[in-house]
Amino acid sequence: MGVGVRLVQLRAIMVNFAIDFDNTFTRDPELFKMFIRICEQRGHKCYIVTMRAGRGDAKAQVEAALAEAGVDVPIVYCHHTFKRKIISQQGLNIDIWIDDLPEGIGDQRMMMAYDDKGIPQTLWQWLDKPTGE
Ligand SMILES: [Mg+2]
Repeated sequence: MGVGVRLVQLRAIMVNFAIDFDNTFTRDPELFKMFIRICEQRGHKCYIVTMRAGRGDAKAQVEAALAEAGVDVPIVYCHHTFKRKIISQQGLNIDIWIDDLPEGIGDQRMMMAYDDKGIPQTLWQWLDKPTGE
């Protein structure tokens, strides 16, 4: 009973979904069109969040594919930067990520991973760094 009540309360909270474009949305645009419609009916919000640069052919292809599918949601272009960082810089919040390449989302450790010259490092470089022990 208590768990059931909690689930109902969780459902009432608006959720922001990030849907990746390449190899996620593009694998089944009709599926994601339906998914987005259901999300919106339930008061949730969907964004397309892509690693692509927001210019030139890269941008035009995304917009054409969404228009062809009849999908009209905000698009966030991350310019080959970790997605969580760009989302944060834009003052947005994503609750649930749908992405074929979750490594590209990044996390707090990635955002803090700078070398001693202040140059951002990948998580893998950072984890491999000698600890000095
Ligand atoms: Mg992808």
